[in-house]
Amino acid sequence: MTDQFQGIEPMVYKSKINVPYSWWAGDTASKFYLTLRDEKKITATKCVACNKVFLPPRKVCPSCFTENTQWVNVSDEGTLITFTIARRQFAAIPSDRKVPVIWGLIKLDGADTAMLHYLDEIKPESVTIGMRVKAVFSEGRKGNIRDISHFKPVSRV
Ligand SMILES: [Zn+2]
Repeated sequence: MTDQFQGIEPMVYKSKINVPYSWWAGDTASKFYLTLRDEKKITATKCVACNKVFLPPRKVCPSCFTENTQWVNVSDEGTLITFTIARRQFAAIPSDRKVPVIWGLIKLDGADTAMLHYLDEIKPESVTIGMRVKAVFSEGRKGNIRDISHFKPVSRV
């Protein structure tokens, strides 16, 4: 601080800023989103060296650093690994989602890693780790992760 500000009381004001921004998703994420939007298929990358299947897709295998050049389709059904419930409407929750909001870490059949997404069509008190869930695709898909609206429990008929 220069001498000209000495003796001046620092004033602090609280405010909010809204900063729109855009960025390139990259070739790996772009391919994933385009397939999701145009074909309603969930795709993952596979490491040809250690055979791990990554969802969300990874350009490079984080285990052995091999470039993942192989794409595979994974199921739209999987297992709930863990979950959390938000009971307060905070900024990270889109306005079309009302609390309680349930986020689940879901490992789809055919993948070795899990993806984070919404769980819906179930009461929070009914959610259990290990339950089977299925993707529900959005009607107006736009090429982003919300092209999967949410996951719902697999009905046991
Ligand atoms: Zn690998």
